[in-house]
Amino acid sequence: MKIEVDMNKCVCAGMCISLAPTLFDLDGNARLIVIKSECTTPKEVKEAEDAIACCPVEAIRLNETACSK
Ligand code: SF4
Repeated sequence: MKIEVDMNKCVCAGMCISLAPTLFDLDGNARLIVIKSECTTPKEVKEAEDAIACCPVEAIRLNETACSK
């Protein structure tokens, strides 16, 4: 499954980073970056789902059709 973030919606509140630190981080300009876009383990999928649930602007999506190996 592939994580997608709509950067036009993201307000860089950082909720997703605290919930999914293996998937998200901030760059040097305090802008969100996806450091691992493919969720390959149940733990990563859970982190992504938690981040999606808590994003205040619903900017995160998990694309289930883009499966990884
Ligand atoms: S929780 Fe949502 S708004 Fe906040 S940084 Fe993550 S994607 Fe952006």
